[in-house]
Amino acid sequence: MSHSPSIPDRPRLQLDPDMSNEERLEAMLAHHDNLLDIGSQLDRELKRAVERGAELRSEVDRLTRENESLKTSALYVATIEEVWPETHEGLLRQHGNNQEILTDLSATQSQELDPGDRVAVNDSFTVQEVLDTETDARAQAMAIDRSPDVTYDDIGGIDEQILEVREAVEAPLQRPEQFEAVGVKPPAGVLLYGDPGTGKTLLAKAVANHTDATFIKMAGSELVRKFIGEGSRLVRDLFQLARDEQPAIIFIDEIDAIAAKRTESKTSGDAEVQRTMMQLLSEMDGFDARGEISIIGATNRFDMLDRAILRPGRFDRLIEVPRPDQAGREVILEIHTRSMRLADDVNLQELAESTPGYTGADLASLATEAGMVAIRDGRTAVTRSDFTSAKARIEEDNDSGPITSDGWADYAY
Ligand code: ATP
Repeated sequence: MSHSPSIPDRPRLQLDPDMSNEERLEAMLAHHDNLLDIGSQLDRELKRAVERGAELRSEVDRLTRENESLKTSALYVATIEEVWPETHEGLLRQHGNNQEILTDLSATQSQELDPGDRVAVNDSFTVQEVLDTETDARAQAMAIDRSPDVTYDDIGGIDEQILEVREAVEAPLQRPEQFEAVGVKPPAGVLLYGDPGTGKTLLAKAVANHTDATFIKMAGSELVRKFIGEGSRLVRDLFQLARDEQPAIIFIDEIDAIAAKRTESKTSGDAEVQRTMMQLLSEMDGFDARGEISIIGATNRFDMLDRAILRPGRFDRLIEVPRPDQAGREVILEIHTRSMRLADDVNLQELAESTPGYTGADLASLATEAGMVAIRDGRTAVTRSDFTSAKARIEEDNDSGPITSDGWADYAY
């Protein structure tokens, strides 16, 4: 530890009034020398202080960086098994690998933590955060919509798929006794597959709305990426939540993230994904006890799926949601321009012809972007040329994006 350098006292000149002039001159010269001496001493101190200041500044920079990296590094979830307040120690069980770890706790933590509490720990197993109900993974990983406002009228170009989903999900939720009377088991789970932005989420929400079911959405990728070691617990929670909220539709988006084909690699991440998938399969296999709950999975990567999830009693109804054809694109454009003021020169049929390969999501952004062009120009109606500008902008953004290469670039509207 360094101390502040001591500053020499200011020298004082005491002149005796009885002194002769020579004595006075001599005393003043001595005082002058003294002052020069102290001046150079202070210069040296100042130099040292400046050097020390620079040293401390670089130390502060280093600590700030360290602090930042500590704050951003991944945390792991663990459950407190035992706490010994006298010795400020705790026994944790890390989720995922189930290792038990004895760790030091702060005085406050050892008073406040109880067995069963869930905590986030860093690489050295220091408790960084206590997970309360607010930060509970359940709340973060699942989005609950008690009454989604999407209707079938909001979906265009996939009428056949709407029918199939209604038959597989809506009918068993609304008329379970009919299935029982006929003696057929309704499909356990419906898997929607197709390119991003083709309306899979929309479709699941519309069914939930139509059946008055609670819509519970979980993203497969979040399950495995955000909460290391929490995947299988979250799947259990997801089904419990659905049981509490039934009738309910569980929508698992990006299901490929938890149900990809097994690979050769044996990293702990893979093991974690496997456990999450096994939990999902076992929840689905307990179908009879599931009550009024439907499960809809969605993926853009059907090719990657582990076939185990497609067995009967699991995702046994596969529905492909394609990109819309021309007629479909026209309906989707009608839907997304429904509340817009269009100028007379806008021709949606022509626009649909000039947008092959566009998904529903692309068409929705085309309409919004055209509206934005009109607003930027201070107009209240959207014109044909607004759509042309919007299309150019979207195609520029999408250059290597989701629109397929089946030729939109060759079309000019
Ligand atoms: P992802 O695979 O990326 O999750 P998705 O297939 O689930 O995509 P949605 O989230 O349903 O796609 O669609 C995104 C948005 O695009 C919707 O909110 C809607 O505005 C628009 N959209 C997509 N498909 C259609 C459609 N068939 N009819 C009308 N609008 C659509």
